[in-house]
Formats: sequence, C-alpha cells, structure tokens
Amino acid sequence: MNNKLVYTPGPTEVRENVRLARAISTTNPDIDTMFCEFYKSTCEKIGEIIKTKNNVYILNGEGILGLEAACASLTEKGDRVLVIDNGIFGRGFADFVKMYGGEVVYFSKEYTKDINEVDLEAFLEKDNNFKYATLVHCDTPTGVLNDLSKLCPLLKKYGILTIVDSVASMFGEELKVDEWKVDIALGGSQKALSAPAGLTIVSVSEDIEYAMKSRKTQVTGFYCNLSIWENYYNNKWFPYTMPISDIMGLDKAIDNILEEGIERVLNRHEKIAKATRKSIKEYGLDLYLEKGYSNTVTVVEIPGYIGAKNLTDYLLRHYNLVLATSLDEYSDKVIRIGHMGENAKLEKIIPVLNFIDEALRRLGFEGKDRLVDLFNKYYSEVKLITK
Ligand SMILES: *Cc1c(COP(=O)(O)O)cnc(C)c1O
Repeated sequence: MNNKLVYTPGPTEVRENVRLARAISTTNPDIDTMFCEFYKSTCEKIGEIIKTKNNVYILNGEGILGLEAACASLTEKGDRVLVIDNGIFGRGFADFVKMYGGEVVYFSKEYTKDINEVDLEAFLEKDNNFKYATLVHCDTPTGVLNDLSKLCPLLKKYGILTIVDSVASMFGEELKVDEWKVDIALGGSQKALSAPAGLTIVSVSEDIEYAMKSRKTQVTGFYCNLSIWENYYNNKWFPYTMPISDIMGLDKAIDNILEEGIERVLNRHEKIAKATRKSIKEYGLDLYLEKGYSNTVTVVEIPGYIGAKNLTDYLLRHYNLVLATSLDEYSDKVIRIGHMGENAKLEKIIPVLNFIDEALRRLGFEGKDRLVDLFNKYYSEVKLITK
C-alpha cells in the first residue's frame, strides 16, 4: 500500500510532522475541557485562513458529511433549492437536497466553463424564490473553479443562502468567506490541507443559524444536524466523542500552512498550476476546460487510442505512480494532475510530469518537447495574480 508516489486530487501527501502529531498521547476529549479549548483554537485558526468570523466546526467524517449535513440542516419538506450545476459534484448536491424533502431546481450549464454571473443573474431575475443555493468552488472531476466572489454576493442580493463545497479548493485557492458572503463553506482534511482523510470543516454564518432556528420541523437525523454545535463551547459539550488524534493531526497541518503563510501557499499553487496548464497545451494535449481553471487540479484529455485508464494503469505498473482518471462520463477520457497541498511543490511535480511524458511516449503519443522542459520554461515566467 505504501511507498507509492501519489499525485491525486485528494487524498494528498501528508507531511511527517502531521503523521507524528496523530501519534501523541491524548486525553479524554469528552471530559477534559482542555480539549474543548484546543478544538476551538484549531477552528479559529481555520477561520483566520478562510477569512471569517463565522463559527467554524470540525466534524468527524469525510468531506461528504459536510455536504449532507448542510442540506440536512437547512432543508424542510417542499423547500425550493437552487442547484447550480456545472460539474459532477455540483449536480450531485441534488441528491442530498431531495433526500431531505427539498424541491430541486437546476441551473445547469456546460461543464467546460465556470458559471457566468450575468447568466445567473438573468435566471434569478425571473425566478429567485429559493431557500438556499448549492454550488461548488472547485468541481474536482473536471477541475472547474467557480468565482465565489461574484456568485455568492449575487445570490445574497436575492435573499438566497449559499452552501458552498470548497472541499477541493480550501487552502489551495483564495477563499474569503465573509467578504464573499459564503453562508456555509465546506472543506475536507484530505485535499489541499494535506491532512489524512476523515474530517470535514464547516463554517456557518449567522443567517444560517437564524434559518436553522426558524425551521418549522425538526432536522431529520442527529449526526448531520449542524444546529447541535452552536453552543458546544459554552456548554463544553460535544455531540459525540471527538476523534482527538485526527484533530491533532489536522491542527498540525493548519500550523504548517500558517507557518508558511497562506499567501505563499496560494502562490505556489498558482505557479505550479499555470505552468502545468501552459506546458500541457504546448506539449500537444488538450485541457478539458475552456475557462475557469482551478489551481488545485489540472484535467487533461487523453487521446482515445491510448485511453486514460490505460495510461494510469501503465503509470502505476511501471513507475509506481498513482494518478487519477475521473468520474462518471470522464472515467476513461481524462487524467487529473493533483497539484494540491503538499503536492503543489516543484520537487513533487517534476517526476510526475516526467513519468507521464515517458508513459505517453511508450504508448504512442509523441509530445512536442519534453514535458518537463516546457514546464520549467513556463514556471520561471509565471506572473502571479494572488498577492
Ligand atoms: C473530494 C471532494 C469531496 C469529498 O468527497 P470524497 O469523494 O468522499 O472525498 C466533496 N466535494 C468535492 C468537490 C471534492 O473534491
């Protein structure tokens, strides 16, 4: 299982100090209130990074838990919910909405682009009676990045709450929760944070807290009910035994980001992503997207005569490299280069690009130049837009 080079868009590589933090001896997190202080400080550090004063919680469950918990906590039978769909996770939100009795209205667009706020506004002018909207920041299967800074304030203007899946972008792309009016921002431990899989991050705005209090019916379920967290700190009470070792690992991963500085972290994602995209194109392969590229993952089309699965199988067999294809309709069409978190570093991506280049050559695709040479050329030229 171990000693492979894993370069997927989550789970990502976990740094040694994070792995070791999970091995430190612990206390009883239910009884010893020191844990409650520790938990709160970890949540506050996350709030600092994602720029919010909202309550932040860490839930015991992988990213999907956050998506379901947000929908479970807000949806009452018959509520109209706008599902913004320009990707597989975007579309998938509808399942959770329906499960809890919501009535889904889709705003569906091409999967090759980010959502245009002018199109969304034209739609909202005609129909805006929604309790909340769901949208995805980076939709990982295709790598599209939606511009939350435009979309969330627009939805807010129409009185629509927003649930945003930032699992694949939080800590790898800029996220300004308060300024952008993101009501619920969801993150996971195993993507750009580079902590082990198993934890969800949720930030909850006052408007969400109000909406949860104003429900006419009770939330179906307990584990997914976000309102049970509201007074955890005052009451020194958790709804279930917290996975203390996992949270100690996550806290160390947060410290790694704070130590490096979030701007620097975002910069290295941007540099690697831009150089990857440019070099792939010049090399002679197509990117799946036309616009709206996320800096956390690059999705590359693989010619049909090779096949994406064939390529990733080859990479694993010959070079011990674990690379992902994608989901559903894309499963044999594209590969995903997961340059996020600890993997968004030069020393990590260089061998990966070399292996991809070599495997493609052996499978019959002749690139224009060595992929890594093209990458290095563009890497030295990248102009950063994030500060
Ligand atoms: C990874 C991810 C999740 C969490 O899903 P898992 O497949 O269970 O890891 C949710 N949303 C997005 C956009 C993701 O990339």
